[in-house]
Amino acid sequence: RGDFTSKIDYVFKIVIIGDSAVGKSQLLARYARNEFSLDSKATIGVEFQTRTLEIDRKTVKAQIWDTAGQERYRAVTSAYYRGATGAMLVYDITKRESFDHVARWLDELRGHADKNIVIMLIGNKSDLGTLRAVPVDDAKEFAQRENLFFMETSALEATNVEPAFLNILSEIYQVVS
Ligand code: GDP
Ligand code: MG
Repeated sequence: RGDFTSKIDYVFKIVIIGDSAVGKSQLLARYARNEFSLDSKATIGVEFQTRTLEIDRKTVKAQIWDTAGQERYRAVTSAYYRGATGAMLVYDITKRESFDHVARWLDELRGHADKNIVIMLIGNKSDLGTLRAVPVDDAKEFAQRENLFFMETSALEATNVEPAFLNILSEIYQVVS
């Protein structure tokens, strides 16, 4: 973990998108700093964090971008998507609406991003299983139909966060290497 002074072989830009309050910023905090906050304030200003890792003996720097509270429809600018090699499209498994909006986010993403972008659908807040409003099978089916990778995560409990990022980064590596 951490940024080494050794040479960086690849820099992969990943954007995190999805409705407000689904846990995008906390997923990033968990992955980049192993932190979590229950009362995270709405993100202010476009922001990215990095984490450097080894894939296939290459040094890969993941540069992960978080939206700046621009989660309203079409508020995310094309600059945000520019150069992105991967996207995590996040919904909240306890908020049906956030899943219903995934198709819209996907349209927007496909309208702006490179055609080879690797997209991963993330159902976050899996720790709140008793409040589940989106069946896993609905998400799996959607992901399959749209050619997305899919995982459920909990930023709170750190469940599947590491595997989700590793998965998307490895898939990006397959595409570019
Ligand atoms: P964003 O607007 O998508 O960036 O969402 P935030 O990361 O700011 O999270 C919104 C709220 O959901 C905050 O109160 C977080 O603490 C909470 N939250 C984020 N991830 C999880 C999770 O995995 N489980 C639970 N129970 N709460 C979460
Ligand atoms: Mg946020």
